[in-house]
Amino acid sequence: MNSSVQKIKERLSIVDVISSYLTLEKAGKNYKAKCPFHNEKTPSFFISPERGSYYCFGCNAKGDIFSFVEHFEGTDFMGSLKILADRAGVPLSLTPVRGKDKMDTYYEIMEAATSFFEGEFALNKEARSYLLNRGINDSSMKSFRIGFAPDSWNSVLNHLIKKGFKQEDIEIVGLIKRKEGGSSGSQNGLGDRFYDRFRSRIMFPINDSSGRVIAFSGRIFASKDGSIPGEKDSSFEQAKYLNSPDTPLFNKSNILFGIDKAKNAIRSRDYSIVVEGQMDLILSHQAGFINTVAVSGTAFTDTTVDSESKINNLGLVRRLSSNIIFAYDGDDAGIRAVSRSAAIALSLDMQVKVAVLPGGQDPADIILENQNKWKDIIKNSVNIVSFHLDRICKLTNDIRNRGKRVREIIFPFLVMINSSIEKSAYINEIHHKTGLSEEAILEDYKNYEKTQGVGVNLIKEKQGEPKNNITRRDALEKKLFSIILWKGENEEQLSAINKLRELFEEDVGVENFKKMLNLYEPYADNLSFEAETWYGGKTGLLVKDMEEIILNLEEEIFRDEASSLLININEKEKNNTKENLELDLINYQKIVEKIEDIKSRRSK
Ligand SMILES: [Zn+2]
Repeated sequence: MNSSVQKIKERLSIVDVISSYLTLEKAGKNYKAKCPFHNEKTPSFFISPERGSYYCFGCNAKGDIFSFVEHFEGTDFMGSLKILADRAGVPLSLTPVRGKDKMDTYYEIMEAATSFFEGEFALNKEARSYLLNRGINDSSMKSFRIGFAPDSWNSVLNHLIKKGFKQEDIEIVGLIKRKEGGSSGSQNGLGDRFYDRFRSRIMFPINDSSGRVIAFSGRIFASKDGSIPGEKDSSFEQAKYLNSPDTPLFNKSNILFGIDKAKNAIRSRDYSIVVEGQMDLILSHQAGFINTVAVSGTAFTDTTVDSESKINNLGLVRRLSSNIIFAYDGDDAGIRAVSRSAAIALSLDMQVKVAVLPGGQDPADIILENQNKWKDIIKNSVNIVSFHLDRICKLTNDIRNRGKRVREIIFPFLVMINSSIEKSAYINEIHHKTGLSEEAILEDYKNYEKTQGVGVNLIKEKQGEPKNNITRRDALEKKLFSIILWKGENEEQLSAINKLRELFEEDVGVENFKKMLNLYEPYADNLSFEAETWYGGKTGLLVKDMEEIILNLEEEIFRDEASSLLININEKEKNNTKENLELDLINYQKIVEKIEDIKSRRSK
């Protein structure tokens, strides 16, 4: 095993790591918690300090500290490695843990570009003084790694080529663009067909939850004389913000800006604040609200983004805390955007509040004017239904009009709320604030709900909820090992179990068997209890079931092996790598034979 992984595991206990995300309760030698990966009221998520592993009886989530962080933070293995290495104070060795792949190169390019933009920023007085004027201080500029993309068509391109990166990789991460109509045949020199995507912009790196730069947001800024640097050279329309396109590292509808800096505070303060812009984000952090994140501008406001990805945005934030405050601009567009975001958060069972901003102002304006005003606004945020109710009552006195607006504006939120108690509390609130009769509201609402049912369920299905991800293989594995760990209640059962266990061990290999056993052993008490309730005094049934489970499980295991081998083989053939190809093909054939064998054993 790689030495960094080993060192991290020595320094961080699984209890320390998981308890920084979840509230744990002692359960004998182990700990338990409500599972973060499926919805539940009573804890079925167990952690074994002895084994350094976790296991959920509800959804079969299982693994070690790395897979936990990966799963919880929605990152990959390298991301979880980085997060835990930072925590353990273990420097990550430069030699990669596994073979270096394309993704590693992409991250390296983004890191090199970030340093380059930081260096350019240090040289550019105008950019710094622009940010100072907007209230951003030097320490924020440093910690958010703000940079500057020079007024040039090829500066970042040339810099990265000199560093040894390939043009095609730089294009894939979205830093350069191909010239329209540039023919691929006429390559004469570097950068001929490509140009920098970001020119003359203040650069805000966008990080994933582990702090790796995955994209940029570039802001155009006016210098003191009012002209926009670079404008005269450009025939393109200048958008205020320009974001990286979607790349293998970055999906703009999935990312919340600032998540790497906000995640710990969201958990410890037990709420998050969501703002719209980069400036809002940084100023809110500066004002002490380090539990603030920002939507990427398109994620929640662009109606062409499908609901699935909009919802994914909130996954990590929701696992950290179910309380969320939306603080968008106080104009009509901001209110529309808040409503859309809030509906999604409500459908995820979150407690949604809205910070009421004075018309026409954004959080950055307010914080720049007076930090205490921002504190008050956050403190006085109201739940989304009350927010809209108050607006309706302010805008119209006519009771029929109020009724119409309640149906149009409030009901869509009520449909999203799962709890009936909460719903009836809101109906009561509507009655008190609007003067409409409670019976009338209830009747209208029931009719409305009928027409909405299908749509709501669709959204709920799409909400990217960690699905109950018990695969057939997981379920079979769990059942088999609960029998093996139980060991039966008499000699007869024990010897039957041992006989079948040996057969299985031989078929899947001792190493594989040990790996599986290690995973379930820490939970032996609970698992054998389950087995006992199924098979106590039923030896015949036990043998019959075990035989069937083993056949089915072996089939699943071999199928998994076959398909991953097949992927390998295809890759090698595509890349013309002959290394071990022969061996792979032989192994593949062997597995196919094993699957055939299982089929014939079954038909006997
Ligand atoms: Zn679970």
